[in-house]
Formats: sequence, structure tokens, C-alpha cells
Amino acid sequence: MTTVASRSAGPASCCGSKPAANQNSPTAATLPPSACCGDPTPNAETGACCSEPAASCACQSPNAEETRQGQPAGSASAEPGRLPVAIIGAGPIGLAAAAHLVEKGETPLVLEAGGAVAASIREWGHVRLFSPWKYLVDAAARRLLEPAGWSMPDEERLPTGAELAAKLLEPLASHPAIAPHIRLDSRVIAVSRRGFDKVKSAGRDSAPFELVVRHPDGRIDRVLARAVIDASGTWYAANPMGGGGLVAEGEAEHADRIRYGIPDVRGRERNHYAGRRTLVVGSGHSAFNAILDLVSLGDESEGTDITWAVRRTDIGLLFGGGGKDQLEARGALGTRLQELVRNDRVRLVTGFRASRVLQNGSALVVENDEGGRLGPVDQIVVATGFRPDLSLARELRLRLDPWLEAPEQLAPLIDPNLHSCGTVYPHGATELAHPEKDFYVVGMKSYGRAPTFLMLTGYEQVRSVACALVGDEEGARNVALVLPETGVCQTDLSGGGCCSTTAGADQSVGIGSCGVSNEAPVRLGRTATVTAVA
Ligand SMILES: Cc1cc2nc3c(=O)[nH]c(=O)nc-3n(C[C@H](O)[C@H](O)[C@H](O)COP(=O)(O)OP(=O)(O)OC[C@H]3O[C@@H](n4cnc5c(N)ncnc54)[C@H](O)[C@@H]3O)c2cc1C
Repeated sequence: MTTVASRSAGPASCCGSKPAANQNSPTAATLPPSACCGDPTPNAETGACCSEPAASCACQSPNAEETRQGQPAGSASAEPGRLPVAIIGAGPIGLAAAAHLVEKGETPLVLEAGGAVAASIREWGHVRLFSPWKYLVDAAARRLLEPAGWSMPDEERLPTGAELAAKLLEPLASHPAIAPHIRLDSRVIAVSRRGFDKVKSAGRDSAPFELVVRHPDGRIDRVLARAVIDASGTWYAANPMGGGGLVAEGEAEHADRIRYGIPDVRGRERNHYAGRRTLVVGSGHSAFNAILDLVSLGDESEGTDITWAVRRTDIGLLFGGGGKDQLEARGALGTRLQELVRNDRVRLVTGFRASRVLQNGSALVVENDEGGRLGPVDQIVVATGFRPDLSLARELRLRLDPWLEAPEQLAPLIDPNLHSCGTVYPHGATELAHPEKDFYVVGMKSYGRAPTFLMLTGYEQVRSVACALVGDEEGARNVALVLPETGVCQTDLSGGGCCSTTAGADQSVGIGSCGVSNEAPVRLGRTATVTAVA
């Protein structure tokens, strides 16, 4: 639709605080001042900070929710239909949601905790994705960007996280149709229905949502919205090292020597790992990436020693799809790692569930409940997957699967006990719905603890959700998704599919970790060895 750009406004013409993302956008700066209203007086009826009626004021929605002295700017009597759709998180899926909404003439308000969009992806910016560009660009984003001069990168190339942010997500966030609707440094810490605690039912569905937003200086704002799309991901809620899903004894005390996720061992964190002993815990692609980087570092820096501990005992399922994975790069990671283990470059310890971390001189050792000890090591990298932070929505009525913590209808479609990345059925607003009307969790977070999320899945989710929010029921229902087959996975539990005995039994699976199905376990290198402390 072409109405989008004309509804958007440059930063200078908006009242209240400036939208953060578009300050460097040349296109936005050229919009005429008349595109937006200049009077910062809140509109009495709509709660907008611009005095013109909402329908004619381009900057109404981004500012409608600005607070004054801690009060929600949208008045209690505000008509929910005129409030923006709040999107929590400016990652790829949150930004795609914004693109779909503006394409439909809706006003999103993207609240991003970080000081820049794609904040969590920037934390793993050094990691190369396993999907090529052709699987990473949302269709609505592309429709917005291409007329503005953006061109699709080489479709077959695999970008790093940093390249994804620079070449796709920053241009999208700077687009004049999107930029005015983004608020950076805005962490959503709670969401509720305004005036309704969780128990109160009558009239609930028509009450606006109220979001509590914290800024880095400690200031708290309250924002009203007619619907909420939670695209906040799971990156900041890493699973702990403890084998039972709990923090291991001593894990918190030694936090300064434990790193969660994928450290940049060849770049900014090099000195921390070069020539030192590292234990990597976890069996997904985050662990794969960390280990392969450590091995490369070891080629340049003598004394770099790597121990790799996984909870599973069955290593036939550990290394992924290899050559059978249609996402070639993902398969290749596992194949390379398998070779390194075989050649004793990496010491693999299977069946190890960490219970405690202890100081041993200047080093650390890790114990399990069977009396096994790993170490001594200088530091630990924990790559045991992620879980959704559900605290945000404590006051909302959610229906979640008991173990995956994904929406109840979605969970059976993505349960890693049953499915792999390539066998997820298309799904959208229907499967993502909760008893709380117009509240959706999308993207990585929608998968809860399932590790198999792919960006393409999220793009289709937000297309469908945007349709639902504008009343296009057919568009919401007609979901279509073609994901690359991993070639290693089955949907038949009884057939012993790739994930059937892995993720369910081992919560440490990481990104897209699926094993080789129906293959007998093989022994490689120094496996199943729990070493005594030297
Ligand atoms: C190392 C790695 C490699 C991956 N490779 C691929 C791949 O090759 N192909 C693929 O399809 N998928 C891949 N994925 C999986 C997935 O597609 C990505 O994790 C993707 O970034 C998920 O997008 P998202 O928008 O759901 O979440 P995120 O990218 O995590 O974005 C969430 C955003 O929300 C913000 N936020 C968090 N909490 C709040 C809050 N309370 N308030 C406001 N803002 C908040 C964050 O700062 C962040 O900007 C990979 C994941 C990882 C970790």
C-alpha cells in the first residue's frame, strides 16, 4: 500500500520525546513539517500529544503513549481502537511486525530495550548465520525497502549477525514509514489491561493494554496500546548450567568466570580465552560455534585447551544433519565439529549433568552428582539454550504449554520431542492466540523452550497476526510457510525422529539442534570420559 509513507512523520515535527531510530534518516528529514502536528498539548479525547484529531495527525500514535509525570498519556477513556499496536522488541521479527502493520495503515509503536535496534543480534554479531539471505528477509520489509533504494544482498550468502543488523535491520528501522514508531532505550517490564487485574473479566477485552516501560536512567513510563505483540526474544534469558534446569551450586558465585551464549573469542574477548583452558557446556549450535571459534583461536595461540561437556549420552544424535541438512552451513558446523572430536582437538565428555562449580586453586572445577569432576579450567562457556521470560505478562491471561512454555496450540506443532526445524507446520494468529485478546507472543519467544525457531517462521507469524489485528480473518487464517528441510528429522515419535530422544531428555539443546535420525550412536575421540582433577 502506498498510504504508509504519507502517514509517517519526521522526528522534528513530532511532539514529546523524539523517535530514536530515525534521527539519521535522510528520507525522514525531508518530510514536510505539515506531515505532523506541532502542538505538544495532549488531545483531550484521544490522549495523543498532538492536538489534531488522531486520524489526521501523522505523529499521533507514536506520541499518544508518551507519559507526563509518570501518568499514562492515553487517557482512561481513550478509545482502544485508536491507540497504537505496541511491539516489544526491535529484532527481526518485531521490525517485520511493524512493516506489516504500517503496510496495512496501522500505527505500531516499537519499544526496544537496547540503545539500537537488533540489540540482541549485535551481541552475537560475530557469528555467521546458518541461513542464507534468501531466508532472512521478510516480504513486507522488502516491499517497503526496495522502492527506497535498498537492494537484496546476494541471496546465497550467509551473513554474520552484525551484517544482518547493518544491511537489513538498520535500513528497515530507518525507513521513514517505520522510524517514527520506534522508541529505543525503552525496556518493557510489565504489561496489563488498564484497570483490570488478572482476575477481573467483565469488559476486559475492550480495555486498552498498559505497558510499564523503564529507561536506562531509571525513569518509568506508562504506555497505552490497543494490542500488544511481544517479540522480545529469549536471548537475555539463557538457561543455567545446572543439569536439572536450575542454577548449579557455585554458578552464581563464579559468574565472573562464566559466560552465557557465544563469546567473541577471536575478536573483542580474545585475551580472555587465548592460551587458557575453557569448558563449554551445551549441545546446540551456540555451543558448536563457541567451540569452533576456540579451536581457531587455538591454532594461533598455544595452550588454548577445550573441554566440551554435554548432558546427553547418545552422541549419534549430537552433530546434526551434516550433509543431509538443506541449510548447508548448519550441517557443516556439526560435521566439522565431529571431525575435531575424532582428532582429539576437542575433549568431549558425554552424559555430564553439572551440579556444582568449585574453586580449585586459581582454577574452577565442575562436579556432577555421580562424583565426576571436570577441570581444572580457567573459564566456562554455558550454551545450554534459552527460555522465555514470562514475568512481563504476569498480569495477562496466557495459555501456555506446561513444558515448552509456548502457546498451547502452537506447542504440539513445534515440540522438539516430535518435530525438527524443517517439519514445523505453518502457523499464525490462531495458534498464537491466548485467552487475553489481542496479545500475541511472536518470534523466538513464541517457541518457548523449543530450540528450532527460524526467522522465516516468525515472518509468517507476524503477517498473520497483523491481518488478525486489522480484522482480516481470512488473511490471518491462510498461513503458508516453506522451510528448508533439514533432511534429518521426522514427525513420527515412534520412528525415533531426530529430536525424539534428545531435546525432551536434554534441555541443553540450542539453536536448531537436531540430531541424525535412526543412526546408531558412534563413539568418537575421547568421549564419555569424566576426568579427575589434576
Ligand atoms: C547465534 C544465533 C544464530 C542464529 N542463526 C539463525 C539462522 O541462521 N537462521 C534463522 O532463521 N534463525 C537463526 N537464529 C534464530 C532466530 O531467528 C534469531 O534468534 C532471531 O534473532 C530471533 O528474532 P526475534 O526478533 O524473535 O528476537 P531477537 O532477535 O532476540 O530480538 C528481540 C529484541 O527485543 C529486545 N528486548 C528484549 N527484551 C525486551 C523488553 N523487555 N523490552 C523491550 N525490548 C526488549 C531485544 O533487545 C532485541 O532487540 C539464530 C539465533 C542465534 C542466537
